[in-house]
Amino acid sequence: IRNIAVLTSGGDAPGMNACIRAVVRTGIYHGRNMFGVMQGYQGLIDNNINEMTARSVSNILHMGGTVLKTARCLAFKEDAGMEIAFKNLQDRHIDGLIVIGGDGTFTGAKRFGEKYGINVIGIPGTIDNDLYGSDFTLGYDTAVNTIIDAIDKIRDTADSHDRLFFIEVMGRDSGCLALRTAIASGAEAVLLPEKETSLKQLITKLKSGVTTKKSSSIVIVSEGNKYGGAYDIAKSVKRKFTHYDTKVTILGHLQRGGSPSGFDRILGSRLGYAAVNAIIKGESMQMVGLRGNEIKLTSLEEALHAHNYKLEDDLLEMTHVLSI
Ligand code: ATP
Repeated sequence: IRNIAVLTSGGDAPGMNACIRAVVRTGIYHGRNMFGVMQGYQGLIDNNINEMTARSVSNILHMGGTVLKTARCLAFKEDAGMEIAFKNLQDRHIDGLIVIGGDGTFTGAKRFGEKYGINVIGIPGTIDNDLYGSDFTLGYDTAVNTIIDAIDKIRDTADSHDRLFFIEVMGRDSGCLALRTAIASGAEAVLLPEKETSLKQLITKLKSGVTTKKSSSIVIVSEGNKYGGAYDIAKSVKRKFTHYDTKVTILGHLQRGGSPSGFDRILGSRLGYAAVNAIIKGESMQMVGLRGNEIKLTSLEEALHAHNYKLEDDLLEMTHVLSI
């Protein structure tokens, strides 16, 4: 493998820049030619591919987002789009591709690698922490800290006004972010995609908070839960529980931005470094991940089809106990 390209695709996540830096510099250290592809798979099709030097990635380690930009590219799902992408890589003699993204990104990389025989390595980058084969995905830790910071601020105002807040957090089908941030912010309740909590149970919990003289209550609503968005849930609860003034906050995209935490900078650096070392050794169709503080390879096939996050019932129970 002489010429290696790197791209970021799908949703951006803090730590992607630290990872790009690590990929580019590790490749250059080993005498490879390194290329950055702009806007994910769209850049492969548009031939928006630039050679990178060690200096191209100066001063980005601490930055959120991704300097390579990202995009959702429908054309890459079509054979014709993939063909153009491959030709553009072939013209530059690029024989290795490192993709940083989530499951959609890996699905594309796997199809591309199988079809054209190019070596591909995936790096898990998503705040949702929902990929099998890595205990943590890039951006997750920063998102946890960003959400906690936001909830702390909401708690101040909730407490001052005796309010009930419903705070909606991201995570898609995974309640990992919601459960962790509920623990870390002392939320009174959390609604998760993996576990049905009836509105009746929720109201009982809120009422017990009134009995024990709580001056505010916070309910974390994971976006993938079965009852819908935070506004719908707040409306239903308000009909039966009127003790507090009720407010809703949807944290939205602020959860995806910001300077990466120390953990994500280190994780991004480790995964980027490991991805290049793996591809140089001839590995392909693998994802690099962190398992038990060791870097491990998992096949893209397994990363895509095995389920990573199994809700820890004990943590949910603990959230309930600690918020009496
Ligand atoms: P996130 O978890 O942040 O959403 P993701 O990688 O899952 O990240 P997607 O939008 O699902 O984000 O996928 C990113 C890109 O991967 C798509 O825009 C598309 O270009 C490519 N992709 C997804 N599925 C396929 C597929 N079946 N074949 C080819 N390419 C695909």
